Amino acid sequence: MSYSDGTRSVHAGIPVPEVGEPFLPGPVFAAPYHLDPATGPGKNGYARTEHPTRELLEAAIGELEGAPALAFASGQAAITALLLAVLRTGDTVALPADGYFTVRAFAETTLRELGVRVVLIPTAAQPYPDLTGIRLVLLETPANPGLDVVDVRAFAAAAHAAGALVAVDNTTATPLGQNPLALGADLVVASGTKALTGHSDVLLGYVAATGPELLAKVETWRKQTGAVPGAFDCWLAHRSIATLDLRLARQSQNAAALAELLTGRSDVTGVRWPGLPSDPSYPVASAQMRRIPGVVSFDLGSAERVARFLAAARLVFAATSFGGVHTSADRRAQWGDDTAPGFVRFSCGIEDTDDLLADVTAALDAALS
Ligand SMILES: *Cc1c(COP(=O)(O)O)cnc(C)c1O
Repeated sequence: MSYSDGTRSVHAGIPVPEVGEPFLPGPVFAAPYHLDPATGPGKNGYARTEHPTRELLEAAIGELEGAPALAFASGQAAITALLLAVLRTGDTVALPADGYFTVRAFAETTLRELGVRVVLIPTAAQPYPDLTGIRLVLLETPANPGLDVVDVRAFAAAAHAAGALVAVDNTTATPLGQNPLALGADLVVASGTKALTGHSDVLLGYVAATGPELLAKVETWRKQTGAVPGAFDCWLAHRSIATLDLRLARQSQNAAALAELLTGRSDVTGVRWPGLPSDPSYPVASAQMRRIPGVVSFDLGSAERVARFLAAARLVFAATSFGGVHTSADRRAQWGDDTAPGFVRFSCGIEDTDDLLADVTAALDAALS
């Protein structure tokens, strides 16, 4: 029996019912556990290696991604774990030129200093560049913050033919938006800080892989370097995943309405949302993705106009990050990102669509003057 997304979200990683036990067991607060004085380690020995709350969360994420998963303390902890566990001096890694900024910053400092060559490939590159000699390709689709997409199946086939491993950053889409492993990727990495958990209160990351050897390598890396999430964060994340389907549905609905509204305004340029039929990402996104996330990007022309827009809006919080239940917007250039000064990454929350549209319209009108 295969269930649909709402059912899968609610039941992901939930243990077999036991009389007198909760549906989702609460967080286990332990670093060491009792050992058998004679035989030593049993099921649980030390929480950096084994943790029941984390393991239930990993079961949930694994069910949604379709392969075993390892949870990390943040998305960056997961991505850097993958890069450092796989890459060695003399290797070449290909990263998205327009993907998450901190990954590029890490590659261009730490990885380069370790003797790893870094090549940057635009997410929408056509045709794909020659991938000969590349050890690992990281794709990010839709790319944050520009929202270009890449055909994972086609790219993975080209990369595999060249002998490269393929990892996909699935942060923006979430596993209910697309399943990169089913599209041929070897690994998924993601930040669970964004839409996966969606309440803007947890930092989380994960790596998922179909190949047990690759995942074992990442697990050893995690065990030895220690970037595990805490018990309470794991529990909060797991509790939040129950509503993933509902949250994504409203976010996506809000984004569709907002993108439509924005494209009709002469004071807003460069509107991007992969679900808009006129968007350059639309053909690939609609073929590859199961749903389009609630992130819309656009340009208001200047930092000053963005500031006026945010000051006038009552339902749009100025905040970085995205994918939460509260609508938020981020002027990326303020973080030193290589985006235009008026570029905004807008993250639709789960407010009522009419309220959100009215608020954005009023705030844009106010920002004009
Ligand atoms: C936020 C983000 C990350 C980093 O995740 P953290 O949880 O903030 O460490 C990585 N990739 C993408 C696409 C992101 O949006």
